Amino acid sequence: MEAVRTELFDLTIVGGGPVGMFGATLASLHGMKVKIIESLPELGGQLYALYPEKPVYDVAGFPAVPAKDLALSLVAQMERYRPEVVLKESVETVEALADGTFLLHSNKGVHGTRAILLAVGIGSFLPRRIPAQGAESWEGKGLHYFVPPLDTFAGQHVLVVGGGDTAVDWALAVAGKARQVTVVHRRNEFRAQEDSVRQMHETDNINVVTPAEVEEILGADEVSGVRIRHQEKGSHELNVDAIIGGLGFHPDLGPVKTWGLELKGSTIKVAPESMMTTRPGIWAVGDAAFYPGKVKLIATGFGEVGIAVAQIRTFLHPGVSGLPHSTTLKNKNR
Ligand SMILES: Cc1cc2nc3c(=O)[nH]c(=O)nc-3n(C[C@H](O)[C@H](O)[C@H](O)COP(=O)(O)OP(=O)(O)OC[C@H]3O[C@@H](n4cnc5c(N)ncnc54)[C@H](O)[C@@H]3O)c2cc1C
Repeated sequence: MEAVRTELFDLTIVGGGPVGMFGATLASLHGMKVKIIESLPELGGQLYALYPEKPVYDVAGFPAVPAKDLALSLVAQMERYRPEVVLKESVETVEALADGTFLLHSNKGVHGTRAILLAVGIGSFLPRRIPAQGAESWEGKGLHYFVPPLDTFAGQHVLVVGGGDTAVDWALAVAGKARQVTVVHRRNEFRAQEDSVRQMHETDNINVVTPAEVEEILGADEVSGVRIRHQEKGSHELNVDAIIGGLGFHPDLGPVKTWGLELKGSTIKVAPESMMTTRPGIWAVGDAAFYPGKVKLIATGFGEVGIAVAQIRTFLHPGVSGLPHSTTLKNKNR
């Protein structure tokens, strides 16, 4: 039976990724009673679950920061203001009550709230698997979609599959530890950021094989090689110690899709001036939010959450607008 939690929060944030956590910091800092609900056992979203060791270069104020460290800093920043953190709980449905508040039903209980901020990102982290026949049987035996500590690859020959940012970023990160990195992509053109692609081509121990695909993974108990089919030169075998599937992840909003919000593919349409969804009282930010010109970056999400929290403050306290500077909130910053 669902445990009913009658305590009413001003704001409940669904999703404990970087954007949700920064939302919890801002909203708590500005006096709201905040709860943040995350389905995974750890906070940090994609930073912690997908690429903890990869350096992030484009978050303001950090020249280069490993994703995990950024996630931990966001946790520490948020914890100063003591929002209620609920882990290992997945929010499933929303119920609007006659008094204008909401009940959020999760797989474990019910949460009362006056406003909702959806920071659900790309939803559950379902990797796009490499299309080689039988590839699924190599997961955990040298084929990685969730990349382990980079030291795992020290001295190895690592094959990275894909042509977008995920693949190219991994190739560059792993090249610092591995003996050799081979990148296989089915097109000659890479979709990753131009600068990263240039860096990849200039890195001595990265070899790029295009247009080509992995036909088969070879090995006894563990991955020891692959058969690559080059579109012009035919098939050849290559000895490798590990494979990173860098084709990205399937975005999927999960149960939020059924909430009656206007969607754009696997994202939620919001008004960019408020970040509110098409349902009053429900806002969306970060990778989950869509508006024309949207860019899926941590920095963008941080900006969006500032707009959303200001609007939520006005929603909760009509007549109050904007957000005062944090430096003026003396009591909160002790
Ligand atoms: C390999 C890779 C490299 C990247 N590099 C960079 C980079 O260098 N710079 C940059 O700016 N961005 C980068 N990004 C993108 C960046 O990680 C995302 O933009 C960012 O994580 C979005 O944050 P978010 O909080 O919106 O969502 P997420 O990080 O996806 O977090 C959402 C959280 O919500 C939780 N959740 C989902 N549904 C529910 C539910 N129903 N109930 C409870 N919890 C739920 C999920 O478990 C997840 O923890 C990269 C992404 C990848 C995959």
